[in-house]
Amino acid sequence: MSPAMHNASFKHLGLPYRFGLFDVGEDELSAFISTARTEMQGLNVTIPHKVSVMPLLDGLSKEAQLIGAVNTIRFKDGKALGFNTDGVGCVRSLREQGVEVSGERVLVLGAGGAARAIGFQLALEGADVSIANRSQDKAEKLAEEIASKTKRGCRALTIEEKTLASEIQGVDVLVHATSVGMHPKTEDILIPSRILRRGLVVMDIVYNPVKTRLLLEAEKIGCRTVDGVGMLVHQGAASERIWLDVEAPVEVMREAVYARLGKS
Ligand code: NAP
Repeated sequence: MSPAMHNASFKHLGLPYRFGLFDVGEDELSAFISTARTEMQGLNVTIPHKVSVMPLLDGLSKEAQLIGAVNTIRFKDGKALGFNTDGVGCVRSLREQGVEVSGERVLVLGAGGAARAIGFQLALEGADVSIANRSQDKAEKLAEEIASKTKRGCRALTIEEKTLASEIQGVDVLVHATSVGMHPKTEDILIPSRILRRGLVVMDIVYNPVKTRLLLEAEKIGCRTVDGVGMLVHQGAASERIWLDVEAPVEVMREAVYARLGKS
């Protein structure tokens, strides 16, 4: 999705840039970053390089340091600086739907790379975060890290139905940040919808399909739903601001993504 949304944005802004894809092996990363320093304005970095790229950079943003991963690099004045825009993308996507997370109780499902960025950013924004994950040890480790680094409480939970049902009664926002329900396994759902409740904000960061089974079932119950395209577009817009100091055209980018995903 990234080439589609960034190239649509550059065209709209009349900027002479292209966003391309590079398949870089682990043993090629260092040489690639050296070349990119002189030939590119910036980069997005994805799995498996989000952590291993860090020692190759000259500086890290506060978010990238806390999260311990980089998804955006800017090359400027001979320096390579690392940032992480995933968490901010999630928070801005909620905000544009009228959901301010400060002071709210948020349950994050998942403890992988995306959940990690989201959990930290939510805590930084003043949310009261709990984390539930299939592998409970990962949820515990992440919750401990968030609590100690942000000085905000963060609890780890199991994904047992009983535990989640009771937690959901007290939370304002649920963010699903696992890969369950992603294409092609679109019938999969991590938690039974019977434990959701009317009025709960349910965000699914999976964006393919745009309407996941979780979102469809949550809608039927009367939850407020937020799809994953918003996070994708807002993390991309934040990256463009870092690379080019521009205000990215979020709606143009969103339309480009919806067009690629076959939803108008
Ligand atoms: P990741 O680091 O591989 O983490 C995967 C997470 O999903 C882990 O918490 C894992 O639990 C859980 N999981 C996977 N299969 C599961 C199953 N069958 N049952 C229960 N839990 C399961 O992946 P990621 O980078 O965090 O990405 C997660 C999803 O978010 C992907 O679908 C990705 O496309 C999407 N995403 C969206 C955006 C956006 O902008 N909208 C940005 C980033 C990622 P365990 O720890 O137990 O394995």
